Amino acid sequence: MNTFTQAPIQTDQPSHLMPVFGRQPISFVRGRGAYLYTADGTEYLDALTGIAVCGLGHSHPEVTQAIAEQAGTLIHTSNLFEVPWQTAAAQKLAQVAGMEEVFFSNSGAESNEGAIKIARKFGHLQGIATPKIIVADHSFHGRTLATLSATGNKKVQEGFGPLVEGFIRVPFGDVEAIEEAAIQHPDIVAILVEPIQGEGGVNTAPQGFSYLEDIRRICNQHNWLMMLDEVQTGNGRTGKYFAYQHTNIVPDVLTTAKGLGNGFPIGAVMTQGRGVGVLTAGNHGSTYSGTALGSRVVYTVIDVIEKENLIENAANMGSYIVQQLAQQLSDQKVAVRGFGLMIGIELPKPCAELVHIARDQHQLIINVTAGSVVRLLPPLNITQEQADQLIQRLVTMIQAYLA
Ligand SMILES: *Cc1c(COP(=O)(O)O)cnc(C)c1O
Repeated sequence: MNTFTQAPIQTDQPSHLMPVFGRQPISFVRGRGAYLYTADGTEYLDALTGIAVCGLGHSHPEVTQAIAEQAGTLIHTSNLFEVPWQTAAAQKLAQVAGMEEVFFSNSGAESNEGAIKIARKFGHLQGIATPKIIVADHSFHGRTLATLSATGNKKVQEGFGPLVEGFIRVPFGDVEAIEEAAIQHPDIVAILVEPIQGEGGVNTAPQGFSYLEDIRRICNQHNWLMMLDEVQTGNGRTGKYFAYQHTNIVPDVLTTAKGLGNGFPIGAVMTQGRGVGVLTAGNHGSTYSGTALGSRVVYTVIDVIEKENLIENAANMGSYIVQQLAQQLSDQKVAVRGFGLMIGIELPKPCAELVHIARDQHQLIINVTAGSVVRLLPPLNITQEQADQLIQRLVTMIQAYLA
């Protein structure tokens, strides 16, 4: 067992944390692969992985070693200098992402901020003074002002007006609504969507990925940027390196974060095609953009995903889990859907309490999104045995819940 240091909490003092999170009454002190452990040593199977973050599982030895080595060598200089690990990480990421330019950010929201800035500058370069971006209902793009304005969820926006202008909302999957918007707003410059809506309930568009092909066609027709938010779907999660790779198209702007650093906070906004060359010297930046430490983590994560064939494992284990769940729950009114290891089980009734039941009765960490969808985001290197354990616990729980 690893040694770990207990946090020195002063139990005679109140918590001073801003109460923005609805927290579960449990904390973990250690993680290994697909498992989390409480201080008393109880083991939990983690089918959430920090919300699609720890794709290589907890405390992957190669990532841990890279962090320890780099932390003991050089953590950060500045983008006033060349950062060799940043250059190397960008080369590796661009290759797997099919992109040309990479800017490292520190989160998903910040990556999308970068995409929004690229779209606006792209418009201004063509003399469009008030460039607009099409976004979708039920989307989630982050919690900063611009990204919460882009988000299609009133709860995220409530209390934070005035919202950032320049977003036009359409129903997710509705191609005609995009074509209609094109007629009404001559100053549209881009479309930003998630290939699969994660927070929205693990949903592809009703017509599937052909929606993305339609968006690509419309963007080409109108000289718009096609921008995909792959903060959650990227980095192997859906059984391809990026979810758009399930299609024949390539977006102009691609954002990611979550799985990129396996828990180390780092994201990226990337461009190819007409997205290239829009941002130039002085247009964008961040003190922490691509630190030596963060960049080395990205390099290592991609290296491990490749060496351990984790994309293939995510695809195979994902289809196995979906097929087994669908079969074993076939007598229940549930809809099982997913790509790779981004899986949703839609129940016929609200089921937020399953989070607590799974944790307390089945030592299983899951998430419920959109009210009635059990969301599974297990590690990409989940084994057959762990997948069976996950399936068995879920089936037992859901059968009892719906009985
Ligand atoms: C999580 C998420 C974000 C926001 O990422 P943060 O790192 O929390 O800022 C944006 N878009 C999608 C699709 C996400 O899943």
